Amino acid sequence: MSAQTALPSLPQPVRPVQPAVAPPVVRPRPYGFTTQQVHAGDAGVPGGHGDRVAPIHVSAGFRFEDSASAAARFSGEEDGFVYSRVANPTTAALERRLAALEGGTEALVVGSGQAAITTALLGLLQAGDHLLASDHLYEGSRGLFEENFARFGIEVDFVHDHADPAAWRRLLRPTTRVLFAESLSNPRNEVLDVAAVSGVAHAHGVPLVVDNTLATPYLLRPLEHGADVVVHSASKFLSGHGTALGGVVVVGTGFPWQGRAPGGDLLFPQLAEPSAVLGGRSWLDLHGERAYAEHARHAVAARFGPVLSPFNAFLVQQGVETLSLRVAQHCRSAALLASWLERHPAVAGVDHASLASSPSHLRARRYLPRGSGSVLAVTLRGGAPAARRFIESLQLFSHMTHLGDVRSLVVHPASTTHAHRTPAQRERAGVHPGTVRLSVGIEDVEDLQADLRRALVAAELVTPHADSLEGAAQDGAA
Ligand SMILES: *Cc1c(COP(=O)(O)O)cnc(C)c1O
Repeated sequence: MSAQTALPSLPQPVRPVQPAVAPPVVRPRPYGFTTQQVHAGDAGVPGGHGDRVAPIHVSAGFRFEDSASAAARFSGEEDGFVYSRVANPTTAALERRLAALEGGTEALVVGSGQAAITTALLGLLQAGDHLLASDHLYEGSRGLFEENFARFGIEVDFVHDHADPAAWRRLLRPTTRVLFAESLSNPRNEVLDVAAVSGVAHAHGVPLVVDNTLATPYLLRPLEHGADVVVHSASKFLSGHGTALGGVVVVGTGFPWQGRAPGGDLLFPQLAEPSAVLGGRSWLDLHGERAYAEHARHAVAARFGPVLSPFNAFLVQQGVETLSLRVAQHCRSAALLASWLERHPAVAGVDHASLASSPSHLRARRYLPRGSGSVLAVTLRGGAPAARRFIESLQLFSHMTHLGDVRSLVVHPASTTHAHRTPAQRERAGVHPGTVRLSVGIEDVEDLQADLRRALVAAELVTPHADSLEGAAQDGAA
């Protein structure tokens, strides 16, 4: 007898009289984001003991039932796990959840955000191809494209005016195979016009890959605006607690991977041409629309080997379950602090898309109605000495290069993340000598404001401006 039947019986509901007219068909309402972040992808949690949470499967490989099953799993004719470099039950549960949250059909998790970008793009590019990327990029991505990809014979151009579709179109080449951009860049908070740039990509027959790390799927789902692939550093908001490194590639639907260039050449021969490991068939023959995702998992990630550990997958999964709550608080506090900082006399400028002064303000209202993110650049009037004193005077903000943590963080980009770039390049990226990057955490905003106020007063003492100092003192007393 099951536990269910052993329960005392409940009063039976009175059966309603059959209505004469059939009731209207009510479509089930899709679950909201917060419901999905705690439930999506649960079906299929292999819970031999009724586990409610996807357990951490720390097993390098998985036993075959028999010889026939071993062969069938290798050929892909039978579903099931084989070896954790390809797939693992814990990482698979995270993949289902992240695919649902981004509105994609499937996802592939890997060991870091850098690994996600590498995997997504090496699934599309080969020697002789051209990558067209926004100029407003994470420095790790820029280095990967300019140095590592260059050594593979992959050429890259950067579009500075990324809000202008014509600027993208001008730099297209016959060999361009992918467009790449961040939905929300840092430190300047440029918002991508995803629909316009995906239109440029699609007119050229190629996909748009979007790094959605700073926006998170709670604020923006690029696939719904025309992007074809989304990548994340899960080390940031998705994990959210500054513990695990991770990355994810989420794939959308409908991209025609069998496309050809005007001269008739296949745009993606690695997907469309027969492959020796597939017994002379192609990834497209075997998987149709899913060809890119299958190739990325089995022929890119499984070979280059950037595996996410099941333990880190568990940590990211735990983080994802509170994503919307954290991001809402991060954004609320960041917007309040941005508008207060912008008016502070010690501050020369603030880059945050919630501000009317931001060149991205209108795009933020269209693409980011739930909030404009929580990583902002604050440029101090006193230049580098003021920035140094400011950072060293902060108590709640941790001085480190990371973002999207529940804790508030601060860094001086000109002497750290952007130190290797020329002064002119730094200026173009919005990184001035007095710029500090804040990643606003979930602490009480009054406490963060008090910490910042104290540090601003200290910064002004380094480079006193008679009138602004007075303003800061008044502000400090308020
Ligand atoms: C941090 C970051 C990355 C790299 O992610 P890791 O997990 O550190 O490898 C890529 N893109 C953006 C926008 C990031 O902020």
